[in-house]
Amino acid sequence: MTNEVIYSTSIQGSSSTPYLVEMTFHEQEMAILCSCPAGEKNVLCKHRVSTVKNILGGIEGDDNIATKLINAGYHEVFFHLDFLEKEAVRIKNEIKSYKKIISEKMR
Ligand SMILES: [Zn+2]
Repeated sequence: MTNEVIYSTSIQGSSSTPYLVEMTFHEQEMAILCSCPAGEKNVLCKHRVSTVKNILGGIEGDDNIATKLINAGYHEVFFHLDFLEKEAVRIKNEIKSYKKIISEKMR
């Protein structure tokens, strides 16, 4: 029952000791863990998100690790998340412009 560490990186967060993001493989299952307070509670933290994004974007890691992430379906969900985040910004701006129109009408 050993977990094979396929990638690890340390990220300087708000704590004095850097957080450790570790990707492991065990029986075809991939786990990505972070040692930050949120990560320890298995809450999705920005350290794990940025590590995966950087690997998929070729900023860190290598092709082998990127392929493993793609095979595990990460590319698809991150692509969709990115799309939704851009949509959220667009909708927020649209709401703002409609509020402006309403406010001008009320003057
Ligand atoms: Zn973290």
